[in-house]
Amino acid sequence: MSEKKLKSEALVYHAKPQPGKIKIVPSKSYSTQRDLALAYSPGVAEPCLEIAKNVDNVYKYTSKGNLVAIISNGTAVLGLGNIGPEASKPVMEGKSLLFKIFADIDGMDIEIDATDVDKFVETVKAIAPTFGGINLEDIKAPEAFEIERRLKDELDIPVMHDDQHGTAIISAAALLNALVVTKKKIEDIRIVISGAGAAAISCTRLYKAFGAKAQNIVMLDSKGVIRKDQENLSKEKLEFATGRKIDTLTQAMKDADVFIGLSIADIVTPTMLKSMAKDPIVFAMANPNPEISYDLAVKTRKDIIMATGRSDHPNQVNNVLGFPFIFRGALDVRATKINEEMKMAAVVALAELTKQSVPEQVNIAYSETRLTFGKDYIIPKPFDPRLISEIPPAVAKAAMDSGVAKEPIKDWAKYREQLLQ
Ligand code: NAP
Ligand code: MG
Repeated sequence: MSEKKLKSEALVYHAKPQPGKIKIVPSKSYSTQRDLALAYSPGVAEPCLEIAKNVDNVYKYTSKGNLVAIISNGTAVLGLGNIGPEASKPVMEGKSLLFKIFADIDGMDIEIDATDVDKFVETVKAIAPTFGGINLEDIKAPEAFEIERRLKDELDIPVMHDDQHGTAIISAAALLNALVVTKKKIEDIRIVISGAGAAAISCTRLYKAFGAKAQNIVMLDSKGVIRKDQENLSKEKLEFATGRKIDTLTQAMKDADVFIGLSIADIVTPTMLKSMAKDPIVFAMANPNPEISYDLAVKTRKDIIMATGRSDHPNQVNNVLGFPFIFRGALDVRATKINEEMKMAAVVALAELTKQSVPEQVNIAYSETRLTFGKDYIIPKPFDPRLISEIPPAVAKAAMDSGVAKEPIKDWAKYREQLLQ
């Protein structure tokens, strides 16, 4: 589809037949006078009283347990920047659609007119009783770091800023698999991270949790290599500042095994790619245009393993592989957090699933003849029907093992069956 056609179709899609992408529908019968007496006054007083007696009953009598708030203030929307809360609404509604179709979670979009951290945190805390979980979205760094940290500390429902952790989880799974394919060890690889924003910081932390070594990492922001001897670095940037005396991407790329791009389009040149080590792993994830185009990269290095954020090339790092299933697992054990253990379990489950033989329906959905684990298939495809039965149980189990599950699962076979319904 041409870009012009896509743009006009997108507007019609959003406007017709009714504006927007989601609506609320009742989940109980409502056709008789009796139904209405139960649904609303006077019957509704009974669950109210039960919840007033024991607040945990809110999970038994309301939709809280399957309701996730998708919350933004519109300060870092897609690659569009600070376009404000109303303009972020189509993205949040879109996320709601994805929560529903991939994991049967009801996602309610909430756009907040607050850029100040305190005001934003207070607002979210005040509305949190409604929800079983909170997906923070498209909030500018560095505010996003503090907002997420405070809400995680102060609320007892799962909170996840998807721009940070979604990308980290999916790209970490892709990285583990790329290392299997290239027979390299995570402890040994030299990693260049272009970008030091919400996504890049969180990705790098997760790669470290899987064994990447701080001394092998070079991170760059818009001013170049982030060095320990620089002044006025943010806490997050200081965490990944290098002791090496280098300044440019060209210098950083020499002999690197891995390039992670979470910055802007077209900053990696063929010369830089040629200077990388054998079997380079290049995840150029700037959206919509990567740090180097797929075609140019694979033309320049025959031995490359390449991933992007785009659906028109192999190995799409797409957050939809993560958030629906991570929240599904967290909600199903009523986890009080989405912690490191749960994120790491999602990474391993995604990486392992990629190695299994691919069902025919996935090949058909993507017009592929034979998807098999290897350099062009290091991460599952979003329409893989096994995601819903594989990822949530792994996340739920990690929540239980790490002591944050209030409703542990007892019958795993039954749980998997439920997930498939
Ligand atoms: P962000 O918080 O705004 O961070 C952007 C970072 O890029 C900043 O640290 C900025 O540096 C840095 N940057 C700008 N120009 C640069 C350059 N020439 N060289 C190196 N770094 C440069 O944004 P984000 O949410 O982390 O997202 C960053 C990019 O990744 C976007 O393109 C986004 O679309 C993409 N992304 C893709 C996926 C995916 O594929 N699944 C997921 C998440 C994000 P300063 O700190 O100096 O400003
Ligand atoms: Mg986002």
